[in-house]
Amino acid sequence: MNESFVNDRGPFEVVVIGGGAAGMMAATVAARCGARVKLLEKNLRPGLKILISGGGRCNLTTTRAGADLERQYGERRGRWLRHALRSFPPRALRAHVESLGVPLQEEDLEKIFTRSGKAADVVRALVQDAEAAGVVWSREDPMLAIHRAEDGFVVESAKGVTRAATVVLATGGLSYPKTGATGDGYRATTALGHGLVPPVPALAPLRLDEPWLHELQGLVLDAGLGLRGPDGSWLVHRRRPTLVTHRGLSGPGPMDVSGYVEEVGGGCTLVLDLLPDTQEDSVEQRLLDASKREGRRLIHHGLPDTLPERLRTALRARVGLPEDATLSGLPKVARRDLVAACKRLSVPVDSSLGFGAAEVTRGGVPLDQVDAKTMESRLAPGLYLCGEILDIDGPIGGFNFQAAFATGRLAGKHAAERARMGS
Ligand SMILES: Cc1cc2nc3c(=O)[nH]c(=O)nc-3n(C[C@H](O)[C@H](O)[C@H](O)COP(=O)(O)OP(=O)(O)OC[C@H]3O[C@@H](n4cnc5c(N)ncnc54)[C@H](O)[C@@H]3O)c2cc1C
Repeated sequence: MNESFVNDRGPFEVVVIGGGAAGMMAATVAARCGARVKLLEKNLRPGLKILISGGGRCNLTTTRAGADLERQYGERRGRWLRHALRSFPPRALRAHVESLGVPLQEEDLEKIFTRSGKAADVVRALVQDAEAAGVVWSREDPMLAIHRAEDGFVVESAKGVTRAATVVLATGGLSYPKTGATGDGYRATTALGHGLVPPVPALAPLRLDEPWLHELQGLVLDAGLGLRGPDGSWLVHRRRPTLVTHRGLSGPGPMDVSGYVEEVGGGCTLVLDLLPDTQEDSVEQRLLDASKREGRRLIHHGLPDTLPERLRTALRARVGLPEDATLSGLPKVARRDLVAACKRLSVPVDSSLGFGAAEVTRGGVPLDQVDAKTMESRLAPGLYLCGEILDIDGPIGGFNFQAAFATGRLAGKHAAERARMGS
């Protein structure tokens, strides 16, 4: 084997695998802690996911903070993340990225974006920062395996073998495989004795087999969404923009619930509230009033015009009313069906569009096998895990980068401290 563990400053102390958000942060922090760090990246260009994030504008983080921030990751995962998020909260991440010369701005839904609208600015700044800290990059150098050695680890990669006291694994999950995330890290962690929470796609558009809905493609709705599992229990509720597409539903609301559909293996029901600011009895009263005042008009005129006309017409057809039905001829049962279609529109949902279209992966390395204060594996001391490889995911809104950077920072710091202790 071609041993490449010595550079002109001596052997590496820390090897970081994966040059995404988590890995670049870990490598830079480890180098600033005084460690000699090598960063292996499979691609020629690091940070591909950052580059395409937020529609190419990078929704870096959120304005949410404290317990409210933690809750976004779910109760158990949020509690586990508490230390990482509190030691590097969104305001610290913002300050860090701005200190690297990338101005940020607050936008709707508590999101923080680059002011320039260019995610590439973030990647450039992070790469430069890593280089300035002394990180040695090895690009187009995929890790193939990690072996334990007496004094640390041996990392086998396409370009050779690297020894180090500690390893930080930041290879991401399985979503958007064309960016480099193809599950290599899972193979390495399972080989080192870790379990794996089955990875499923999350933050992906929902595939719905509803031709009537597909015809409404292009509509953007302010809808409430509730998801019922196969046993009828509620899995999640959201109220966020919803986009109708030719394959189902996309946009933040449907994408946020997609991980829950995949996690239970489908058989779910999506319940849409198309008039989330109006009570059910008010919708019915409106129909009753309209039938008295303007009984000769077509049915859809009795529904609130906050709903696009195309949708109102489709709802009329969905409850089985003919095109020429008028408000005055609306029977009570049909009126109630129409109200229910507006407030509790149920559609079966079995899957999302999958990993190819998923912004994140739900599942990964089990959190109880990793120390939440240091990111060190409990099963392979000296191995640190950070970012999406862990069983962590958040909703749309900057929460996934926030978790990746915060866990990356802890992993880098502790990997360097442990490596330096032994040197
Ligand atoms: C289209 C899209 C838009 C998104 N928008 C946002 C957003 O606006 N805000 C937000 O918070 N989140 C967003 N996300 C999610 C966010 O990008 C991820 O959660 C985040 O990038 C995870 O960071 P990571 O470093 O853990 O993993 P990744 O970014 O996946 O980085 C892993 C790195 O490891 C490398 N790698 C993999 N295997 C190997 C190997 N064997 N050897 C060496 N290197 C390897 C990969 O090439 C990659 O560079 C988006 C995701 C996508 C796909």
